[in-house]
Amino acid sequence: MKEIRLAARPTGWPTAAHFEVAETEVPTPRDGQVLIRNLFMSVDPYMRGRMNDTKSYVAPFEVGAPLDGGAIGEVVASNAEGIAVGAVVVHGYGWREYAAVDAARVRVVDPTAAPTLSAYLGVLGMTGLTAYVGLLDIAQFREGDTVFVSGAAGAVGSAVGQIARLRGAKRVIGSAGSAAKARHLTDDLGFDAAFNYRDAPVRDQLHAAAPDGVDVYFDNVGGDHLEAAIGALTTYGRVALCGAIAQYNDAAPPAAPRNLALAIGKELNLRGFIVANHNHRMPEFVAEVGGWLRSGQLSARETVVDGLANAPEAFLGLLRGENTGKMIVRLCGSEQ
Ligand code: NDP
Repeated sequence: MKEIRLAARPTGWPTAAHFEVAETEVPTPRDGQVLIRNLFMSVDPYMRGRMNDTKSYVAPFEVGAPLDGGAIGEVVASNAEGIAVGAVVVHGYGWREYAAVDAARVRVVDPTAAPTLSAYLGVLGMTGLTAYVGLLDIAQFREGDTVFVSGAAGAVGSAVGQIARLRGAKRVIGSAGSAAKARHLTDDLGFDAAFNYRDAPVRDQLHAAAPDGVDVYFDNVGGDHLEAAIGALTTYGRVALCGAIAQYNDAAPPAAPRNLALAIGKELNLRGFIVANHNHRMPEFVAEVGGWLRSGQLSARETVVDGLANAPEAFLGLLRGENTGKMIVRLCGSEQ
């Protein structure tokens, strides 16, 4: 089978040379394990941090070892009680064609309960839960709030804006990196306003879109987006610090935000979070967001790249903004 290994640690922007496609034996499942043939895998921005050898909330990838990350696949052999061959499972051993995984580390899902199997990696999976928890629990969204979300055409951001709309936001504003993405937000996802952050300073475009300010900012980007949002937030405004993708490839510390002291006078609440510590919200999240998906009130686009060998390119494309919605890799041979 094939797997993708980390060939070297990047400084600054990674390239294809930092990855290696390797051939290895299909593993044999031990007692209590299942053998999974991966069908789809996720590439995610946090994986960039794991390419560095730095202490973080998740361990770095090892040079010469396979990468890992969210995946969904079919059980093709089972030494685990209660998980039959043919079961579809979500687990953390992507970047390879087959994985032998302890039963306790897989989640069996109903393949008929989602529009596509890959939805379990996106809108009904980790990224959807990030949007749900970040908006509702961390930013304490309330009906009537004006919400601004950056990275709004991506997997997390597109869910944030739609959940805010469906939960009764007064106004939802999104920023993204192209005119086509901004149009997608207003025309397809029901955002009230959207702008291309490359067109003009974020501060000016946000002020034009939200002249009365914003109550909630969902931050996927950091830097000048966070600075603009701090400036635009109303008194007691709330920020979910979800990601800072603008600086993931930077070698130097970010230049912005320079106006953090405004948080004192406005009595802002800026709170970071890691979705893995909020899995207890999964049942409510799946019920509510799954319902909106089925009724067509919420939609989730995916950008699908074919073939495990193209996973590094999919990941690099994600960092460059080549995805709209969730970036997914379909492994060769996946028919679903
Ligand atoms: P996305 O689907 O949003 O893909 C990443 C997007 O980031 C790209 O499409 C690109 O879109 C945008 N981007 C890249 N560089 C920049 C830049 N310099 N400035 C502004 N935008 C940029 O990824 P996800 O939805 O998976 O993740 C979104 C954020 O949420 C990330 O920061 C990620 O790290 C974070 N996250 C945090 C979690 C947590 O537990 N806290 C869990 C999951 C994700 P564009 O064309 O608009 O530039």
